[in-house]
Amino acid sequence: METRMSQEEKAKRYVIVGGVAGGATAAARLRRLDQEAQIVLFERGEHISFANCGLPYYVGDEIKESERLLLMTPELFCERFAVDVRTKSAVTHIDTAKCIVHVETAGQESYDEPYDALLLSPGAKPLRPPIPGIDSPRILALRSVPDAEALRRLTDLHAETGRAVVVGGGFIGVEMAENLRGRGLAVTLVEAAPHVLAPFDTDMAKIAEKEMNENGIGLVLGDGVKAFKETAQGVLVRLASGREVAADFVVLAIGVSPDTGFLQASGIALGERGHILVNERMETSVPDVYAVGDAVMTIERSAKKAGALPLAGSANRQGRIAADNMAGGRRVYDGFVGTSILKVFGLTAAAVGKNERTLEREGLRYGEDYRVVKLHPLAHVGYYPGAQTMTLKLLYRVRGSVGKVLGAQIVGAGGVKARIDVLSTAIAMGADVDFLTSLELSYAPPFGAAKDPVNMAGYMAENELAGLVRFLSAERLKAAREAGVRVLDVRTAIELQSAPAASDVQIPLDELRGRVGELDHAVRWAVLCKVGQRAYNAVRILMQAGYEAEVIAGGYTSLSMESFTASPEAAAPRGSEEGQADLCGKGAGQAEAAEELDLTGLSCPGPLMKLQKAMERIAPGDVLLARASDPGFYADSAAWAQSAGHKMLSRRKENGLVVVKIEKAGAEEFGTDDASEDG
Ligand code: FAD
Repeated sequence: METRMSQEEKAKRYVIVGGVAGGATAAARLRRLDQEAQIVLFERGEHISFANCGLPYYVGDEIKESERLLLMTPELFCERFAVDVRTKSAVTHIDTAKCIVHVETAGQESYDEPYDALLLSPGAKPLRPPIPGIDSPRILALRSVPDAEALRRLTDLHAETGRAVVVGGGFIGVEMAENLRGRGLAVTLVEAAPHVLAPFDTDMAKIAEKEMNENGIGLVLGDGVKAFKETAQGVLVRLASGREVAADFVVLAIGVSPDTGFLQASGIALGERGHILVNERMETSVPDVYAVGDAVMTIERSAKKAGALPLAGSANRQGRIAADNMAGGRRVYDGFVGTSILKVFGLTAAAVGKNERTLEREGLRYGEDYRVVKLHPLAHVGYYPGAQTMTLKLLYRVRGSVGKVLGAQIVGAGGVKARIDVLSTAIAMGADVDFLTSLELSYAPPFGAAKDPVNMAGYMAENELAGLVRFLSAERLKAAREAGVRVLDVRTAIELQSAPAASDVQIPLDELRGRVGELDHAVRWAVLCKVGQRAYNAVRILMQAGYEAEVIAGGYTSLSMESFTASPEAAAPRGSEEGQADLCGKGAGQAEAAEELDLTGLSCPGPLMKLQKAMERIAPGDVLLARASDPGFYADSAAWAQSAGHKMLSRRKENGLVVVKIEKAGAEEFGTDDASEDG
């Protein structure tokens, strides 16, 4: 008995505040490291270890039962890890001198709990600024399972017929907009910044915005909420511009702030915005008190600058490191590079490291200090069915002939995650662009290419550093033209017809060697093709003929996005008369196809040329169905069909492919002629 007592006395007492990502990870790790310890976990809510990241998909009914979000119950956690889990128990203050936390339960009890070591993982709470009318019960945020259940009840009530406004175009806002649209609501997303998804640059965010528009989401950008007003029907959202958007309910997703109000008088050092300040061992300013997750300020890895990253991966990693250190280890958290990913309807958008905005804020100049390569590769080789395209933007720092990888953004229909993870690893290692060219990445036709998009980005940067090519970003073309740069378009006639672009001279690449003398030697040439690859070959011809020339990065595909402006108009609710009319209109797409054409994996100008040939083969009035992986085919095919006099019956995006049905011109004329002859 005596021996047992002394063992219990010696056993360490760990107290953990917050029972989800960081807290639950740390509790389980502590138990694995120390079977004797007493571990008490306090959680204010009723659930622990739930899947916050799955909440939007539960509202959208992609995840059917809320139980699937509960990765662990308190009972199972207690059984498996012998952790004393106390839910509905909020820690309201901490006495760090006496090493006790004060707890208040939902049942109004309150008591003190002592600790030898304390871990704080209280997370972050949704921002709710004092905007007039914000306290309406129809304005909801999303953090917990009960929040998701409340939002799901409202969504069920208004599914197919209602209208929702999502305020905030960050990850949660975009995911919520998609999920609400999936339930048939009319959805408008309002964002005060000029574009959605802050980790991305404008040019890349536009691709996501276009996808959202094409799927019916209205996007009101650069306009903040001034007030909410409850009406008999719902809520009226008043914007700074004077625009008003009516909704049955509103999702508030304008960001989060650390949930650290209970630490104000604790003596634990907090940052300006309430983040808990920690060192690389996840220790706070007070001995034996550790903190992790959304509530802490850590460091951005490459610049070694203070920063916060409210994402699940870092909370989990930090929880593990803190637990090791609490149990006597000496583990270090190296900081974050900021890797994120999300689904935007048929696309995946992912980013890591710095974007152009951040670099310019830090005083780095485009062209001089940092450079950008942009490409539109296929996720796997074009000849294997189902190849989908992506847009990859790589940012690198120039120091002489060395280029250090600083950031990357990828938006595409497939293969995005694998590439961003490789680039994230490269940035975490502090790699140079030539490292990307040296990477041996897995390849077989269904999965990739012998020159992986990551290798390709490296080759392009390496070529630029070696002076073999120079890239001009499409966003900077207008200014360059004003400064005297002239545009040479090396696309083919059929491409120029379907996708015209302002240029000074047009010479198809395959004729350029013979016609290079037609170009003025005294000016600088910016060369345009569909994605940049033919322009690179053209620039090599020009440079070796003594011209100054550069590639318009990403070609027409990137340039055409420049003129895209998000539409604020939301598609009607799916079950409304208008929504039904939209669906009926699409009935034209049900016409039977005389021929099906697989254009996936073809690079420009292949898809249009094959389309033209196929149309020549079929009879007037027959329908051709074509599938292409090039996202530009959506616009190109319509423009070409119109210019050739054919009728576009339907156009849609399906699993990252563009699927079009075109009726060959001439049937009606034939019919009329026949009739008149017969008559
Ligand atoms: P949390 O997981 O938020 O846990 C903190 C817990 O502490 C809460 O349950 C809270 O009730 C409790 N608590 C707070 N104060 C007290 C107190 N005083 N006493 C007792 N208990 C307290 N990240 C990604 O990487 N990818 C995603 O796709 C993604 N999607 C998300 C979607 C949504 C809707 C949300 C809300 C978040 C998403 N995140 C995502 C972010 C991710 O969930 C967080 O980064 C992660 O959960 C942070 O872990 P944490 O332990 O710091 O905080």
